[in-house]
Amino acid sequence: MAPRANLRRDTSSQRPYVPWAEDIARGLSRLAALGSEDEARAELDSRLEWLRGALLQSPYYVRRLRDAGLHPGDLRSLRDLPHFPLLERATLAEHWEEVSALPSEQEGCVVVRSSGSTGAPVKVVRDRRDCLHMWAVLRFWLARAAVALPHRPRVVLLDALPGGLEYSTRLPILRDGALHRVSVLRPDARERLRRVAPTVLFSDPEGLRWLAEQEGLPEPGLVLSSAQHLSRELREALARVLPAPVLNYYATTETGPLAWECLHAPGRFHVLAPDVWLEPDLDDVVVTRLRPGVLPLVRYRPADAGTVRRESCACGFHGWTLQDFGGRGACAFTTPSGRRVDAWALAWVFKHHALRAFRVTQLAPEHFELELVEATAPGPLLERLEGALRNLGWPRAPRLEVRAVEADSLVTGTKPQPFRTRVDGHR
Ligand SMILES: [Zn+2]
Repeated sequence: MAPRANLRRDTSSQRPYVPWAEDIARGLSRLAALGSEDEARAELDSRLEWLRGALLQSPYYVRRLRDAGLHPGDLRSLRDLPHFPLLERATLAEHWEEVSALPSEQEGCVVVRSSGSTGAPVKVVRDRRDCLHMWAVLRFWLARAAVALPHRPRVVLLDALPGGLEYSTRLPILRDGALHRVSVLRPDARERLRRVAPTVLFSDPEGLRWLAEQEGLPEPGLVLSSAQHLSRELREALARVLPAPVLNYYATTETGPLAWECLHAPGRFHVLAPDVWLEPDLDDVVVTRLRPGVLPLVRYRPADAGTVRRESCACGFHGWTLQDFGGRGACAFTTPSGRRVDAWALAWVFKHHALRAFRVTQLAPEHFELELVEATAPGPLLERLEGALRNLGWPRAPRLEVRAVEADSLVTGTKPQPFRTRVDGHR
């Protein structure tokens, strides 16, 4: 296990970005309070000025638009967007360097890799603001959850990945706060969480599952999870020990945060306008970036399914909302007692597998097939899978047939389908 490290980080240079972060949060709040679609669209249209300029700096877009008989100046309003070409994830993966509007060696820029849900990694150029954007959006989310941000707040990244890297660092961008990465695999994880008593806790479904098994932990103001599927069962289990609001957000490395799941009506992801625009009335997520930065994205398709509509939500949010967010291939398994459970509740078991490197098929209520691309011994994986099934409603370990398969043999369409069922004709 890696030693606990106090990483030296360039945190002192965060402070100049505080006014910018506050401005981002104010922008999100203002749009979320605007009942008038015309007014909201007018504000979003005003953001296109930046985008037009950025497209002229992007070698990829200059060429791509010229080939399509278009010019950045043709983008006067969001209503012009449907005339513009889509940018597929594979195209971004190939042309990542020339899509960005500045050379990647620009000061403060970093190149990050996204593994994403569709397999092939994409390299993404990020500037300093992109790297800090989450802290700006967090201010807005805290306000939505009615959580007051104290001075010097403590933030924990609760990590369930093997390796157990931990660190503590200052976080000047968030009211002179501190950031602690805590690994649940360390024996003193509980003790550390108790000592830190975070205001904000970031994790993922696997970390939340661990959290749901602990008792006597201090209650954070807000718990965040990134939109791998967050099942109702897990939400309920967590609520029994920690009554804090849980905010599940949808983000991709290429775009940053895009939407968050309503705190009152799960399944509805409210779009983070004016930072991004998600085109309404399509079956797929199509993103146009409106927040200034080095990577202009017009009609980018992260390959996630969902439909966006304008609405006023009961939670008080006005704006665009993403529904039927099934990009990750919805599937229900049937327990021996006949209950249907969301198969994606098992996703954390396969955290270290690409979504195209495994497939779980339910053949009968107590019979599953597990296909694995790699030849490695699946022992610990099977143990985790059996444990997870037990928690979901299989009190007796079901029959698990493991099959090694060729790479690419599990690819059936544009989206991976790692969970399938053959029970009662359900899909
Ligand atoms: Zn809502």
